[in-house]
Amino acid sequence: MLRKTPQPAPLVDRFGRQITYLRLSVTDRCDLRCTYCMPRNMQFLPKKDLLSLEELERVAAAFISRGVRKIRLTGGEPLVRRGMADFIGRLGQYLGAGLDELTLTTNATQLKTFAPILKQAGVKRVNVSLDSLDPKTFAEITRFNRLDSVLDGIEAARSAGLHVKINTVALKQQNRNDIPDIMEWAHARGLDMSLIEVMPLGETGEDRFDQYVPLTMIRSDLEARYHLQPETRADPLGGPSTYVRVNETGGRLGFITPLSHNFCASCNRVRVTCTGRIYMCLGQEDHIDLRSALREYPESDQTLHAALDAALGAKPEKHDFVIRQAGERPELNRHMSTTGG
Ligand code: SAM
Ligand code: SF4
Repeated sequence: MLRKTPQPAPLVDRFGRQITYLRLSVTDRCDLRCTYCMPRNMQFLPKKDLLSLEELERVAAAFISRGVRKIRLTGGEPLVRRGMADFIGRLGQYLGAGLDELTLTTNATQLKTFAPILKQAGVKRVNVSLDSLDPKTFAEITRFNRLDSVLDGIEAARSAGLHVKINTVALKQQNRNDIPDIMEWAHARGLDMSLIEVMPLGETGEDRFDQYVPLTMIRSDLEARYHLQPETRADPLGGPSTYVRVNETGGRLGFITPLSHNFCASCNRVRVTCTGRIYMCLGQEDHIDLRSALREYPESDQTLHAALDAALGAKPEKHDFVIRQAGERPELNRHMSTTGG
């Protein structure tokens, strides 16, 4: 049953940006260990620290009542959390009742099982992370030999009628030369693809400097082989992508460049972690804890809404990412898998 909430004010921050997009992390756990995302021996959070699925739904409902129209489930790997099928079905009931879009970002290892469930819940599009089509490189990057299940998952999603977008993190040493192959493979199937710059989030046991390659360089690599026509319209989702059309393949390619290109002025999103922390900006440490508001006041959302207002008041104007040389103080001390990518 849908949670009924009063109609409080929309979430507009100090800089006039309205929050219409929530990224909700449902778990920090994952069945892969991508080298840019987490260390091999990642210590996951104790289960008691995670919001229950009921609490996550309460958070989603509160945001929807404040004008959020799009929710992306993420993690960790969202599809490894127990109870996800029911949870996605419950969130799907908000579609057309405040929510315009429910989607998720996944590594696709479980997508074969979940594709029909997602479709049934009203999900139309999914983002799938895929950093190489070469089984050996895939296993080096993800530390697991699961490329076949990922490709099966992508096929199952397409067969179920879901639009799939491929996200590829560009890595200086591991997959820079694989990018044209992934792009041609994706475009041959009618799939859009976005390239992502590595962000300095959390220790991974790897040197970020060996991973980071600016997308301007990847773009130059591609321009030596393809004609890239810039798309005139901005990212329709108000997101950090700039898109080109690739003449030779006919497909679309996005560049997500949080480090070398500042997309903060149009930022319309916030992130809630699986422990109930709301991060107003992926590139800043400031956060507000929603968990106590949820747990201390199970019957009333008043404190939860007050916490959302406080969070909005603290949304910074822009992020503060810097990739540092080895030996310098790292990065933000939290992993993308905890905050939700
Ligand atoms: N497990 C799912 C997946 O891999 O798609 C969802 C969570 S994952 C944290 C979300 C996205 O963040 C993925 O596209 C992943 O490649 C990206 N990501 C993870 N760590 C990153 C980092 N340090 N810099 C840039 N992107 C990162
Ligand atoms: Fe897992 Fe996604 Fe992080 Fe890879 S990027 S380790 S799939 S959460």
